Amino acid sequence: MAAIALENIVKRFGTFEVIKSIDLKIREGEFVVLVGPSGCGKSTLLRLLAGLEDASEGTITIGDRQVQGLPPQQRNIAMVFQNYALYPHYTVEQNMGFGLRLRSMPKDQIKAKVHEAARILGLEDYLARYPKNLSGGQRQRVAMGRAIVRDPDVYLFDEPLSNLDAKLRIAMRTEIKALHQRLGRTTVYVTHDQVEAMTMADRIVILRQGEIAQQGTPMELYNTPADRFVAGFIGAPTMNFLDGRIEPCGSGSTFRFANGEHLPLGAGAREAREAVAGIRPEHLSVGAPVEQGQGLNGRVSLIEPTGPSDYLLVETNAGTVTVVAASGAAQLNEQIGLTANESAWHLFEPGENGRRI
Ligand code: ATP
Repeated sequence: MAAIALENIVKRFGTFEVIKSIDLKIREGEFVVLVGPSGCGKSTLLRLLAGLEDASEGTITIGDRQVQGLPPQQRNIAMVFQNYALYPHYTVEQNMGFGLRLRSMPKDQIKAKVHEAARILGLEDYLARYPKNLSGGQRQRVAMGRAIVRDPDVYLFDEPLSNLDAKLRIAMRTEIKALHQRLGRTTVYVTHDQVEAMTMADRIVILRQGEIAQQGTPMELYNTPADRFVAGFIGAPTMNFLDGRIEPCGSGSTFRFANGEHLPLGAGAREAREAVAGIRPEHLSVGAPVEQGQGLNGRVSLIEPTGPSDYLLVETNAGTVTVVAASGAAQLNEQIGLTANESAWHLFEPGENGRRI
């Protein structure tokens, strides 16, 4: 096992700065998920850790060694890719043992290690098969088996589940997490899927255009997103954002929506300013229409049943919002009232990346 430290890491491709001075420390045994929109630099950061790319500036430490300049095979890391990269003309057993044969490990030791990994991953019955005769999930497990047998200090995963169907993704997600709990190895996992990030990570690092937008535990990011970008990225369905103004009122303040509708923001003085109010769909409660100042009123314009709950699209007088409601809580075209705890509202500065107020 090993801790990882990235210090002042910059990566340029030509004049294009893909990674802009990133500092990141990962604790020994920690499961860190790098998440962010397409092109934000997630894979590049992972490839820098693996030694598949060289940093333009900065230092990378794995365990007690600075590794920049060291080739991948000398870093004692194992990487699992999106496309699994299995050798089609090798059996499962040969694929899993490939890295060990390269290191000239004695045959009986290789066999023991491969069989132990196959047992952990439920692949014992498939060792003689070729990759083309396996399902997507089994191939994914072989790719993981190949990583496990090497007994690395650090596991790196680059979107390993994106080629699997929805059901298998969930099953493999649980398996990878269980494997981490069992082996306790430092793991860095790249995904653009916020649900994967929320469910697997000890800590999430959100990247935006080559910079860290925010890092923290899944619940820290969910409860106190640093800006509107993070707020919109974490949580599904995505947070609702409504434009308006903060107005001081007595010892507290209110939020006045663009159409004049208003809601109390609770105690604590706030200065008057333009702002965006954010509310998560699961924090709005559906009921009968309410009086002004008590909540938002609107018409249900769309219902998406998901089974246990319905996603409602509600045209309120302050804007359109998504609501997660109990199944059957509202009918199409019904006039309803939406209420929320004062503490459930988030406030941001105006603009796409507006900071939390
Ligand atoms: P995705 O989720 O789409 O895989 P990502 O966050 O993993 O995206 P990277 O693959 O790290 O993003 O790429 C970050 C940026 O760097 C992109 O704009 C990409 O086009 C660019 N890039 C990556 N590799 C190279 C390269 N070898 N040469 C030039 N530009 C590159």
